[in-house]
Amino acid sequence: MQTYCPSLTRYSRLPTLEVKIGDLLLGNFHPIRVQTMTTTDTMDTLATVEQSIRCIEAGAELVRITAPSKKEAENLGNIKNELRRRGYHTPLVADIHFTPNAAEIAARIVEKVRINPGNYVDKKKFEHIEYTDAEYNEEIERIRQRFTPLVKICKEYGTAMRIGTNHGSLSDRIMSRYGDTPIGMVESAMEFLRVARDESYHNIVLSMKSSNPQVMVQAYRLLIRQMDAEFGVCYPLHLGVTEAGDGEDGRIKSAIGIGTLLEDGIGDTIRVSLTEDPEFEIPVCKDLVKRYQQRAGSDTIPPIQKLPYSPFEYRRRVSRSLANIGGTHVPVVMADFMKAKTINPEDLTAIGYSYDAASDKWNIGDAAADYLYTGKKTIDFHLPGTLRAVCDHKKWLELDQRDEYVPLFQGDEYDPAGERSDTLNFIAVDTANDSSVALVERLRDDATVLLCCYSSHPQSMLSVRRFIMELMLRDLRFPVILGVESEHTSIDEQLIHFSAEAGALLLDGMGDGIWLMNDPTRIVNTHVSGRTYLETKNNQQFLNNISFSILQAARTRISKTEYISCPSCGRTLFDLQETTARIRSVTHHLKGVKIAIMGCIVNGPGEMADADFGYVGSGPGKVTLYRGKEVVKRSVDSAIALEELILLLKESDVWIEPVASTLMTS
Ligand code: SF4
Repeated sequence: MQTYCPSLTRYSRLPTLEVKIGDLLLGNFHPIRVQTMTTTDTMDTLATVEQSIRCIEAGAELVRITAPSKKEAENLGNIKNELRRRGYHTPLVADIHFTPNAAEIAARIVEKVRINPGNYVDKKKFEHIEYTDAEYNEEIERIRQRFTPLVKICKEYGTAMRIGTNHGSLSDRIMSRYGDTPIGMVESAMEFLRVARDESYHNIVLSMKSSNPQVMVQAYRLLIRQMDAEFGVCYPLHLGVTEAGDGEDGRIKSAIGIGTLLEDGIGDTIRVSLTEDPEFEIPVCKDLVKRYQQRAGSDTIPPIQKLPYSPFEYRRRVSRSLANIGGTHVPVVMADFMKAKTINPEDLTAIGYSYDAASDKWNIGDAAADYLYTGKKTIDFHLPGTLRAVCDHKKWLELDQRDEYVPLFQGDEYDPAGERSDTLNFIAVDTANDSSVALVERLRDDATVLLCCYSSHPQSMLSVRRFIMELMLRDLRFPVILGVESEHTSIDEQLIHFSAEAGALLLDGMGDGIWLMNDPTRIVNTHVSGRTYLETKNNQQFLNNISFSILQAARTRISKTEYISCPSCGRTLFDLQETTARIRSVTHHLKGVKIAIMGCIVNGPGEMADADFGYVGSGPGKVTLYRGKEVVKRSVDSAIALEELILLLKESDVWIEPVASTLMTS
């Protein structure tokens, strides 16, 4: 195994043990299973059955149902019987937090039980306690005593189990020793896994979820390494990004986290957590899985002998600073206008610049592109000062005024080119081309060169990553813009493709910018899981939004407010979709502020991860507001909770009045 997966240059699934969940086999090279979780009240048997059926008919191969206490665990029997009576035999999973008693009941009824090692035995007090080794070992013994009965029941009934760690709900014990870290998440699961193995129980799946894709990806990689080192085998992995939110941001965040791991053959089942009805999660899961169904290993990417970076921690690749790219600059966004017939000032609205003719000023939004690729065209108006055009080298040679343009060379065009820019030259490099490494080696000392890396290889992410590793091994510090093209015919699949391909590289610190390309005439399905998209946003706007959302989800460039909202479940105390939309409508301009919207106070505060503020359901019609982990306003009437949240944002000095944008004279 190469550090955390079979190969970094050849697609192949990570070998794992096989787990049996009812009649469903998981892991050990079985197809990647898709699953979701109901949002109904578990005591409402009919509503839960009907929602489960909608999920199953959409393609869910496992359905998870929350069981917060014994009575819900018992009602799983009625739900299961009714589903079976109606002819549905999909395995059910009980979701347990805090209540071993409920788990022990559910394990006798349903095919799988999910426990959270952060709260199965421990009640979280958010206390920082120093544990001596003896005290720590006593705690482990307490886990053994409390957890072993469940393991024995699962063994007896043939029930599977997921040990599902969440970044936001690590126990005080883990927090005190490892902190809020990926390695802490791994150890949290390992404490329970070791107990299960001691009982010779292996029908286990593991997960390492976080709302931060960087943390999530590192934790899964570390877990694989740890299992391999300690047991010589890996248990199947359930992938997911928690509290991803809704709409395109939720899909992008999930696709970055889950897609990054799937690209390396990691993951045996996936759930995309969206703050939407659970059946809408399934098409996203299927689109993600589809990318790997036909994927075969290919030996055409040279193997790597030495990894020039750590895949277990985020560190941005060191690159030369060139203009506003590379070095410590945030990654740039290049808008692709190659296929546009003409380019007018109003076309720039889609990429964050709106021109006001009366005042002769440009309004510049937070998500305004940095470069504009025009191909063979030029622009007959002055661009706003924060935007530069990039055109093909041949076109650039024809220009009288070159100040606003950067030339783009195709690979081998650069060497023989007579005239180049003295300051900045973009070179498009197909990383699948064998001559690309020799080309960049020849340019080693040319401090005007920036590389736009893309790949014609069918496994393009692996190919681009291999090339960037070569740059690192050779200490070639050219800034790199990641070029990703999608030929998919649906917006959903394009979203996933861009997110997985670019996200996987950004999470490993590779990439000083992104350049997303598509052909809008090929898109026949403009829906994002049932909702129209291109009817309200044009293709440029779509690509620009996706670019900034990918950078934000990868935590490499923050350009907007971030929402961490739970997917809702039977515990939810308000309409999460409607509440998230209301909060978003008044706070969307608070760049960089992270707001969590959580359905219940039982798990919500623990799952908010690193949110700056929390809006948490704490009773029927009641909301509790948090600043970080601190309760600031308790049991606020939900009718005034939004105003109270705004007040809290003002008191915390993060509120700004909404203004459209920055003004700049053209
Ligand atoms: S935080 Fe949301 S998804 Fe999690 S248990 Fe509470 S209501 Fe359910």
